[in-house]
Amino acid sequence: MRILLVEDNRVLAQGIKAALLREGHAVDHAATSAAAEHILAAEPFDVMILDLGLPDEDGLALLRRLRQRGNTVAVLILTARDSLDDKVRGLDLGGDDYLTKPFEQQELFARLRVLERRKTAAGSSQLTLGALRMDLNTHQLYIDDQPVTLARREFALLRVLAEQPGRVYSREELEQKLYSLDGALSSNAIEVHIHNLRKKLPEQLIRNVRGVGYYLSAES
Ligand code: CA
Repeated sequence: MRILLVEDNRVLAQGIKAALLREGHAVDHAATSAAAEHILAAEPFDVMILDLGLPDEDGLALLRRLRQRGNTVAVLILTARDSLDDKVRGLDLGGDDYLTKPFEQQELFARLRVLERRKTAAGSSQLTLGALRMDLNTHQLYIDDQPVTLARREFALLRVLAEQPGRVYSREELEQKLYSLDGALSSNAIEVHIHNLRKKLPEQLIRNVRGVGYYLSAES
C-alpha cells in the first residue's frame, strides 16, 4: 500500500517507516500538518497514519479539513492520547482506526491489513480472478492452486491491476500507486515489473494498450 506517515518525532518516524518498508509498503513521511496537507493534495495514498500532537496544529484539525473536502483516504490515528473522549472524537471526525502509543509493530501491521482488506470487495483477504488467487495477508499468489513466487513490487502491481480487471492504468498511475516520492525509481521500472510478471503469469493475461497503459484481461 502507499502510506503517508504524519509524525513529528523523527526517531519514531524513522523506525515506523523502516518497518513499513520491510513489509513492502511505499511510505512517505511528513513531520508537520502543513507538509502532510501539501503532499496529500498532490499524491494519492491508501492510508495515512496520523499523529495528533503535531508542531503546527492538532492532527484532528487536519483530519477534519480533509473530510470536509471529501478526501476519503483511510486514516489510522496513532497517538499517545488514550482517553475515551479522544478516541471517540478522532473516530467521529473521520478516523478509520485509533491506536495508542506505545504500540507493538505487529498490531500496527495487522490494523493496516484490516484497512487494506476493507478496500477490497466484501472485505475478503483473497482476491480471485479466474485461475489466479492472491492471498492479501501472506502476499502469496496461486495459479490453479499452485504457489507462484512474486517479488513484493510485482505482487503489489498485480494487485492493483486485479482489483479492477479491464481498467487500463497508465504507467504514471501505476508509479503513483507503487512508489513513494523518495523511492528510487528508474524510468522503466514499471515496464521491468510488467515484463517479469508476464513471465510468471498465463499468457495474454496482462494486456497492453499501446501508448496508453496496461490492464488485466478479465477473461482468464
Ligand atoms: Ca507528536
